[in-house]
Formats: sequence, C-alpha cells, structure tokens
Amino acid sequence: MLSTGEARLRDEDPELTELLDGEMIRRDETLSLVASAGVADASVLAAGAAALSDVTAEGYPGARFHPGAGPFDGVEALARTRAREAFGAGHANVQPHSGSAANLAVLTALLPVGGVLLGLRLDAGGHLTHGAPASVTGRWFEPVSYGVGDDGLVDHDQILRLAREHRPGVIVAGASAYPRQFDHVRFREIADEVGAYLLVDISHVAGLVAAGLHPNPVDVAHVTTTSTYKQLDGPRGGLILLGRDHDRPGPDGAPLSRTIDRAVFPGSQGTPSPAAIAAKARALARVREPGFRRTARLVLDDAAALAAALSERGHRLLTGGTDTHMVMVDLRSTGLSGLMAERALEECGILANRNSVPGDTTSPAVAAGLRLGTNVPARRGMGPPEMARCAELIDRVLRHAARADSTRHRLDPVHRDEIRAEVRALTRSFPMPDQPVHEGVR
Ligand SMILES: *Cc1c(COP(=O)(O)O)cnc(C)c1O
Repeated sequence: MLSTGEARLRDEDPELTELLDGEMIRRDETLSLVASAGVADASVLAAGAAALSDVTAEGYPGARFHPGAGPFDGVEALARTRAREAFGAGHANVQPHSGSAANLAVLTALLPVGGVLLGLRLDAGGHLTHGAPASVTGRWFEPVSYGVGDDGLVDHDQILRLAREHRPGVIVAGASAYPRQFDHVRFREIADEVGAYLLVDISHVAGLVAAGLHPNPVDVAHVTTTSTYKQLDGPRGGLILLGRDHDRPGPDGAPLSRTIDRAVFPGSQGTPSPAAIAAKARALARVREPGFRRTARLVLDDAAALAAALSERGHRLLTGGTDTHMVMVDLRSTGLSGLMAERALEECGILANRNSVPGDTTSPAVAAGLRLGTNVPARRGMGPPEMARCAELIDRVLRHAARADSTRHRLDPVHRDEIRAEVRALTRSFPMPDQPVHEGVR
C-alpha cells in the first residue's frame, strides 16, 4: 500500500519517481564498501518524513523564538536525552545539519579567528574540517597538521612537539581515512600540557563507540562531534557531545555547553531541522538495542576478514590491517591510481572510493589509495565468508584493471560481465534491509 504522498509522487511526477526507483535498484544491486556509507533504518526514514517538516522554530526546547513548538520541544528533548544515554554524555546538541556544521560550530566556539588549529593532515586521513586548506577551517584559523609515522600510525611525539611549538587553541583527534583507534587519553594529556581544547571527531566510528566496541572519547575530550548518517544509521546530520567538562567554564567564561549551544544557534545555523531531529531521536534509540550491537560486532569481524583476505592476496594495507570498519589499500605498487581502481570496481558493481594515502603525490581527485568499509555489507547480513569472497572479487578486478589497455582504462567486457554477474549473485543473496519489492518498476 502506497502512502498518499508516495501515490501522488508516482502519479504526478513520473520523472522524479523513475530516478528514485533507480536509486532503490542501484543500492540493492551494487556491493557498497564505501566506508562512510550507512543504511538508515526504515523507522528512521519514517520519523524524518513526518509532520515536523513544517515546524519552524529557532532556539532550543523551552526557549524558542517562534510559537507552536510544543511537540517539537518534546522531540528535541528526547533526542538530546537519547544522545546523552547512547554515548554517556553530560550534554548533547542535536541541531547541527551535518558533521561539518558541527565541527564548524565547535571550532568557532573554542577558537578566535586566526587561532591555531592542530589536526591530522588530509593525506594522512584527516577530514577537510580539521584545517585543510580547501576548507574554511584552514582559512579562518591557522592550521598546523600532524601526520603518521612510517608504520602508518599517528605519531604522538610529533603531535607533542608541534603542540609545544605552535601552542594550538584546539587539537583535533579523529579521521575519515584511518583504520585504527586513537589514543584519546594521550591526546588529552598533550592538550592539557599546552592549554588546548581537545575535539574528538568520531564521525566514522560513532556506531562502534555506541556499541561499546571502540574507545568512547566523550569524557576524555572537551567536545566530541559526529555525523549521524554513517555508522549510526540515522539521517543526514550531526551531533555534538560533551562529557565531564560540559559545565566547566569555556573560553568566554560561560559553561562550555552553553558556549557550544550558542555557537550552533545563533552562531552558525538558523532554524534547526525538526524532522531530522526526530529521525536522530529514532536512530539514537536503535543504537542501544541488542541487534545494533550484533551488527556492530559483525562490522568489525567483516573488516578483519576483508583485511586478512586482501593481505593474503598480496595487497598492501595502510597500518597492515584494521581495528575499525575501515580497510585502506595502498595502490602505489600496483600501477593503478585510486581513480582507476574505483572506476574498474564500479564497472563490476563494487563501490569503494579513491582516497589519498600518506605521502601521496597525486591530487585527491586521482589519489593513490582505495578506502573500503564494512558498514553496509554487515547490515545486509554478510559475514566473514562473504568478505573473503569480496576480497577475491576485488582482487580479480584490480588485476584485470592493471592489465587493461592503459589508454582506455576499460576492463575487458568478458571479464567485466563475469565478475558483475558474480557480484549480482552475492547481492541477490543478501538484499538490502527493508528493500521494497520493486516488481512493476520498469
Ligand atoms: C564525514 C566526516 C565529517 C563530515 O560529516 P558531514 O556530515 O559529511 O558534513 C566530519 N568529520 C569526519 C572525520 C568525517 O569522516
């Protein structure tokens, strides 16, 4: 049975409907190993599509600048409570429209314009908002960056040396392309020694943290941020969490939690997105269920199996393996760029994105590495045996691609079709959760 909205969409806008149906088919038929991808639960999507879409209400629960926010106040208060419970936080702000918006709000709260920001370099796995030159955070602030050692691991001695030399106001721990745990306690020691705030960005591993399978930085950091659509199975959006320092005075003398809230609204955003906050509330309830924990466990087991199987086939992995959902392949000895690998895999129905690796001399648009992640396969119910199968398929694609005509970079159609059919057989056996039957479509 179609809802009224869905029926009218199909009826009145076939052009858009066809594109949306195409996306449902694409997500089901392709094998997504995109490390930043998640799968929003159907109940999350339903909460986010509800009546709250029409509420416009600047401010916070009980202190709005518009009338009529009663039910929304309840929803936002519930989302905050659930965020605190999910992460053991003392304070949560659920309004950021994205992880980037959360980071921007926190940085503007803690750092003056021109203040020194110490974060992980982009090619070593850092995020744009950690002070990359292409980001506003690299222009408003004075970015200094740390890298990784020859072993691929974050080098704490280097961070301490840079911190003593540059006296940052904020140090950021956390990454978009780093397959290992951060030592939050060590970071906090360094931050305390130089009088910096510690921001830990757990966008990629928030689900593992919530499941208790990855160190929880919330009480160690001054502020923790995350996006909600990666491992939390939530809507597009961000979260800011504060732990034991939440009521300590911030840079302006007010409690840190108030300074952060004001940096979100009115500092960097206007009205919140009430529907997205309802969806966050739903997602944050799900992360405490046993099913979510089981999936998080599978994410880790899958990543370990994928890493082991790729290593066995001779692929070079950054840091030699993983202790998260992420596996980073260094392609520099294969003759393939990240872009070539990404394209060849996509031709066969396998999705994984190109990514820079430490010391990369190519541009980020080409890149010398490939980033893989197991969030989506685990949510389809794929386990370690299927990950060994994925590694075999990836290995075959990369070998064919390395031998492919170097001017066309296209796979031999026979090989391509053969692998594509095997990928399709695998995805058919493990359909996306809640995939509506798309019979009759097309
Ligand atoms: C994805 C990511 C973000 C940004 O999140 P968006 O919601 O895409 O803006 C921030 N930090 C890290 C480490 C990320 O991986």
